[in-house]
Amino acid sequence: MGPLQIKELLQQTPDGQSVTLKGWVRTKRESKNAIFIALNDGSTIHNIQAVAAPGQFSAELLLTVTTGSCLKITGQLVESQGSGQAVEVKIEDIHVYGAADPDAYPLQPKRHSLEFLREIAHLRPRTNTFSAILRIRHTLAFAVHKYYNDRGFFYLHTPIITASDAEGAGEMFRVTTLDLEKLPRTDEGAINFKEDFFGREANLTVSGQLEGELGAMALSKIYTFGPTFRAENSNTTRHLAEFWMIEPEMAFFELEDNMDLAEDFIKYVIGYALENCKDDLAFLENRLAEEDKNKPQNERSIPLLEKLNFVVENAFERLTYTEAIDILLKSKPHKEKKFQFPVGWGIDLSSEHERYLVEKHFKKPVILTNYPREIKSFYMKLDDDGKTVRAMDVLFPGIGEIIGGSQREDNYEKLLERVHEVGIDPETIWWYLETRKFGTAPHSGFGLGFERLVLFVTGMSNIRDVIPFPRYPKSAEF
Ligand code: ATP
Ligand code: MN
Repeated sequence: MGPLQIKELLQQTPDGQSVTLKGWVRTKRESKNAIFIALNDGSTIHNIQAVAAPGQFSAELLLTVTTGSCLKITGQLVESQGSGQAVEVKIEDIHVYGAADPDAYPLQPKRHSLEFLREIAHLRPRTNTFSAILRIRHTLAFAVHKYYNDRGFFYLHTPIITASDAEGAGEMFRVTTLDLEKLPRTDEGAINFKEDFFGREANLTVSGQLEGELGAMALSKIYTFGPTFRAENSNTTRHLAEFWMIEPEMAFFELEDNMDLAEDFIKYVIGYALENCKDDLAFLENRLAEEDKNKPQNERSIPLLEKLNFVVENAFERLTYTEAIDILLKSKPHKEKKFQFPVGWGIDLSSEHERYLVEKHFKKPVILTNYPREIKSFYMKLDDDGKTVRAMDVLFPGIGEIIGGSQREDNYEKLLERVHEVGIDPETIWWYLETRKFGTAPHSGFGLGFERLVLFVTGMSNIRDVIPFPRYPKSAEF
């Protein structure tokens, strides 16, 4: 089906067999003795080199063979004369599917800034950096499904449109078919959502967890992997308005089982990428090293593969929130008033605190547990002391929080009390509460932000560069 991909052709033994190449020109180079075309079809980071003799093709045709143009080349696969590649193609014929006017085509064979490439997101997959990222992203997504499928989890499709705002009050995107120019009103003058599509207010989901729990109470082990939406107006390098989240939810898992799963899962998918994305990771590692050349020694990053292998091979540090606060209180930056935000029991850790623990103190991924109930969600199981909940956050170097999870409150009365406490109308989540009335069970789960994982594995520094078409405040162009 279809032509052989360049990735496959590069692995063939060259003995003059005829081959057909289809792809986009990366570079064209003309010398006295030959014309060299580097072609790429996105199947691999590597280009295939095609060679023609001077005078073999008309100047008119060659003018349309420029960076970005799309070609079909037929020729013979032969051993390469030059160094740098094992095989090359001796060109017999060139067909130009589509030229790319060199005066207008924005991608030229030189280094473009990531900011510039964000403005041409429709073309950036054609760069080495972005094609590498997209292939790694694919491989990680595949590894996620493989991991859970191999362990008896079922992929549950939780809704994208939701009427419950229990989770993300204030940061949800509204879904409506009402005419904004002529809003229907109630007698009291409020907007009458009874006339809206669903007969009530609706939003895009911020998490599949609540429905995920319903699945776990029947199938025991489920996971979701879908888009989530948050209208938080945070212009950070770690937040998107639309991102993908993986949320496993397991009946009969307590907090410790939950931590074991989270650690094993992350190590597996990173290991899978190490095994299956060698060329792309090597390319990105080099790219980072190049960038680092301009930095002072002490600001240079650990080589990408070394960093990934370290995570796979070492146990994550596990400690409670209370222990973490003690470490922070005793820390140098706290004593020297270098932290921007104050430290004390009860605070919501800010990313400078998280990064101190991970990057300076432990120098490895950290799982923090048993946070104060006040700063965590209503559904987290209360500890016996009544002050903390069975929460767990996994913190990563350079990223901060990559996973947020917990053991869930399975006691109906305690859950209802928390629902009232945080001001949620129990009527709106009656179906969620019923799971605690009918055959309740200890259960746990977590959410992994997929883009934060891709960020870590690719070594990129802005989350907008690890999703094909990022959505963030004032940006939804492509
Ligand atoms: P943060 O504190 O970093 O904003 P959060 O506590 O709001 O994250 P959770 O609600 O726990 O996040 O969501 C679970 C995971 O989803 C997070 O650990 C993170 O990996 C990811 N995540 C959360 N918000 C975003 C976002 N806006 N863009 C990308 N990933 C996100
Ligand atoms: Mn969280």
